[in-house]
Amino acid sequence: MFDKILIANRGEIAARVITTARRMGLKTVAVHSDADANAVHVKLADEAVRIGPAPVGESYLKIDAILEAAKRTGAGAIHPGYGFLSENPDFVEAVEAAGLVFVGPPASAIRAMGLKDAAKKRMEEAGVPVVPGYHGEGQDAKMLAEEAERIGYPVLIKARAGGGGKGMRLVERAADFADALEGAQAEGRASFGDPAVLVEKFITSPRHVEIQVFADSHGNVVHLFERDCSLQRRHQKVIEEAPAPGMPDNVRAAMGAAAVEAARAIGYVGAGTIEFIADGSEGLREDGFWFMEMNTRLQVEHPVTEAITGLDLVEWQIRVARGEELPLKQDELGIDGHAFEARLYAEDADRGFLPATGRLERLRFPEAARFELGAVRVDAGVREGDAITPHYDPMIAKVIAHGATRQEAMARLLAALEATQVGGTVTNLGFLAALLRHEGFANGEVDTGLIGRDLEALTAKAEMPAHVPVLAALAAAGLDHPPAAQDPWDALRGFRHWGASEIHVPLLHEGEPLEVALVKDGPGSWHREGSETAVSRDANGLAVTSGGRRFRAEAAKHGHRVTVWDAGRAWVFEIPDPLAAAEAAGGGDGIVAPMPGLVKRMRAEAGQTVEKGQPLAILEAMKMEHTLTAPRDGVVAEVLAKEGSQVSDGDLLLTLEPQDD
Ligand code: ADP
Ligand code: ADP
Ligand code: MG
Repeated sequence: MFDKILIANRGEIAARVITTARRMGLKTVAVHSDADANAVHVKLADEAVRIGPAPVGESYLKIDAILEAAKRTGAGAIHPGYGFLSENPDFVEAVEAAGLVFVGPPASAIRAMGLKDAAKKRMEEAGVPVVPGYHGEGQDAKMLAEEAERIGYPVLIKARAGGGGKGMRLVERAADFADALEGAQAEGRASFGDPAVLVEKFITSPRHVEIQVFADSHGNVVHLFERDCSLQRRHQKVIEEAPAPGMPDNVRAAMGAAAVEAARAIGYVGAGTIEFIADGSEGLREDGFWFMEMNTRLQVEHPVTEAITGLDLVEWQIRVARGEELPLKQDELGIDGHAFEARLYAEDADRGFLPATGRLERLRFPEAARFELGAVRVDAGVREGDAITPHYDPMIAKVIAHGATRQEAMARLLAALEATQVGGTVTNLGFLAALLRHEGFANGEVDTGLIGRDLEALTAKAEMPAHVPVLAALAAAGLDHPPAAQDPWDALRGFRHWGASEIHVPLLHEGEPLEVALVKDGPGSWHREGSETAVSRDANGLAVTSGGRRFRAEAAKHGHRVTVWDAGRAWVFEIPDPLAAAEAAGGGDGIVAPMPGLVKRMRAEAGQTVEKGQPLAILEAMKMEHTLTAPRDGVVAEVLAKEGSQVSDGDLLLTLEPQDD
């Protein structure tokens, strides 16, 4: 058997797998692209092999480079993580042909679940409930419209090769069917090279409930209960939990049995997930859930299952790959408490959740609850100082909390997020914290439409607490830490000061100027002029007195930017640079690429009159398309970026003529 394992992935999941493999006494091999030469997973592994340049097509998706790395290092097994090659049956066959062990299911099982229509047919035959609908070969538009009529509106058209929510169209009435069909087919062809679709009943009040299954090569199959992943934004999971709120024992047993049946039907081996859609309109019912698809790999959200079962799923994967029997039987498995996972991403909720990049000038997680084993867990693939690049998924970390009850786990997760500090990029931290304060979610009233319905409230701007600008000013002036041996006036250069006891600090917050006057009360002690808010520096950092409360807070300055962290929110201020401001005023305006990417469409032409908000270009970056819109009404002066061209962060794509007024 193997004693050295290669992890064909990066980021948090590679680090996660390495950690368990090492604990089991295995030697580990990391592979990396040029962009990841100093990444966490490379540091953690015993050995690391460079497999190519940054783009995934030239590194993490290159089967031959990965096999070559395994050969060179003498690794006997390959763990694929999730994403990348994890659900590629050709990869599995290549690994096995090279005489290595693939830590995952057989290629045949991946193929059986690869296309949604074939998978549904297979599941129907196995007696697993599937969403009522049409999943046959025929693709004639008239016939599909008749099928939709028969199924009954609303219906969902899905590209059979689809994934990641692409190639899906919800149709509410017959009149809209033809257009929606064309749209789904076009997206299927463009994204997956396959225009074929299936049509299914759209379940109202849908809940995404999935079952973790595990099978060994001796015919044993168990399930490790369910996860509820109903909190989704554009079909992408945001917060997951286990068990599902309001899950009756009989429904859990029925879903578990159906999932085990599904795994058996395709000769499954290893860890897998059966995704069901459930009708939550009258609570979870035995006859109210249907098979949606199977993910033939370890899932991103597997830690919530680990938290409630106390098991290490990666350890199970490796033991199964070694040919061992499953460590436990179904009746030896149980649920302990409740767990949540939140996915922390570098993304900008204010700009339609646009993925963001940047160097993580600050990355601090709450100190693990030191007096309680495992209440909070952080799976991070990056450290402070690392960069989030446009080449890969912008995930920073997964924060997982466990508790005896749902309420306790939820409170722990919120506290953990509130204590998390990220600087150098925008994140969805505030959005995650807002979700955890959502009343319906707190009551367990979840469905896949929750985020969409309440998006405005969930992304609403919080009012800036009074102490935030004071801390920002203090940090901007370099007064948040004891003066170093340097000339104390260095830190103050650029600020107007009237004697040593009062300084005026000019700041910008979201483009709006803000001036804070700080009055010195004593050594390391300041208050904001005309207010009760005071901050003092002591050996432990900064202590704030504001609104009758006394609490600790943190701020940091990085270059011309200052960040203040407060209850899960990061408040970012710019320190205005008079020279840069003059330059900006002289230049024209237009659309600037918010990140590096490919200009997929350019809809603007010189001389064209455009309205504020009008889509003008589509930028493809981070595996997603981003629509760039006109920042104001105006006339396009010049188009600088051609369709199909690669652009860098900050490149001007087109200019608008100066406004006359
Ligand atoms: P799951 O279905 O496991 O709940 P998702 O489908 O949201 O989770 O996430 C899986 C996706 O994550 C992959 O399909 C891929 O797009 C992305 N991904 C792949 N590799 C990585 C990685 N190393 N780190 C983060 N994300 C990745
Ligand atoms: P993907 O391969 O893109 O993950 P899925 O078939 O798993 O596609 O569907 C993605 C999401 O779309 C689900 O998690 C669920 O929120 C929603 N969805 C899928 N099928 C239905 C349905 N029949 N009714 C209501 N919502 C659905
Ligand atoms: Mg899915």
